[in-house]
Amino acid sequence: MEIGGLQKTTFIDYPGKIACTVFLVGCNFRCPWCYSSEIVLPDKITRQPKIIERDFFSFLDERKGILEGVVICGGEPTINPELPDFIKEIKKRGLQVKLDTNGSNPEMIKSLIKDNLIDYIAMDIKAPLNEKSYNSTAGTRVDVDKVKESVKIIKNSKIDYEFRTTVVPSIHDADKIREIAQDISGAKKYFIQNFRAEKNIDESFTKLEPYSQESLEKIKDSIAHHFDVCQLRY
Ligand code: SF4
Repeated sequence: MEIGGLQKTTFIDYPGKIACTVFLVGCNFRCPWCYSSEIVLPDKITRQPKIIERDFFSFLDERKGILEGVVICGGEPTINPELPDFIKEIKKRGLQVKLDTNGSNPEMIKSLIKDNLIDYIAMDIKAPLNEKSYNSTAGTRVDVDKVKESVKIIKNSKIDYEFRTTVVPSIHDADKIREIAQDISGAKKYFIQNFRAEKNIDESFTKLEPYSQESLEKIKDSIAHHFDVCQLRY
């Protein structure tokens, strides 16, 4: 498993748990606002220092009794066929696992849930669930049926989950966000995350103004009825 980064402690990435976050290398999307180009773009990946898997597991052993969970994010973790074995090694240490995913690999998500390998899943919803919107938003051709399948699997699962969208004003106007909310209506939790103009894959995005808190509050209020919990994240 290629590990491109490790945040040794986080109190916010795994709801209710003290966790670390491990960043796996590689992604099949190219969202222009992405903040993680060093582990997404192949030419940057080659220059990114890697963490050896053995060292990561030694780190977990050292933090035994302190850490409660591990957040696995990327890049896109589910493009790695060895992900289930990697998670099994984490689970052997008695830790809970949260997976962050773009939802492009429903088969992997289904099998991880079935094998009790994940305890929490956070799936990004990049755009309304149709091909035209997704392709123009995720920076590549996306099989939207797979994304829809992941939404269905997650909604019908027994594990805790959230959907979330990073909103960029030039991409996600209020109508688009309402369309997304409609598409995933009935989900337990939905978070609207404000875009940050920093080290974005498309450098022109570093000049964009994020939404004001007031605008996002208004949008959130107009969609909150679709969910049990609907909140903003900054
Ligand atoms: S935002 Fe996520 S899905 Fe999009 S390119 Fe970056 S890592 Fe991949």
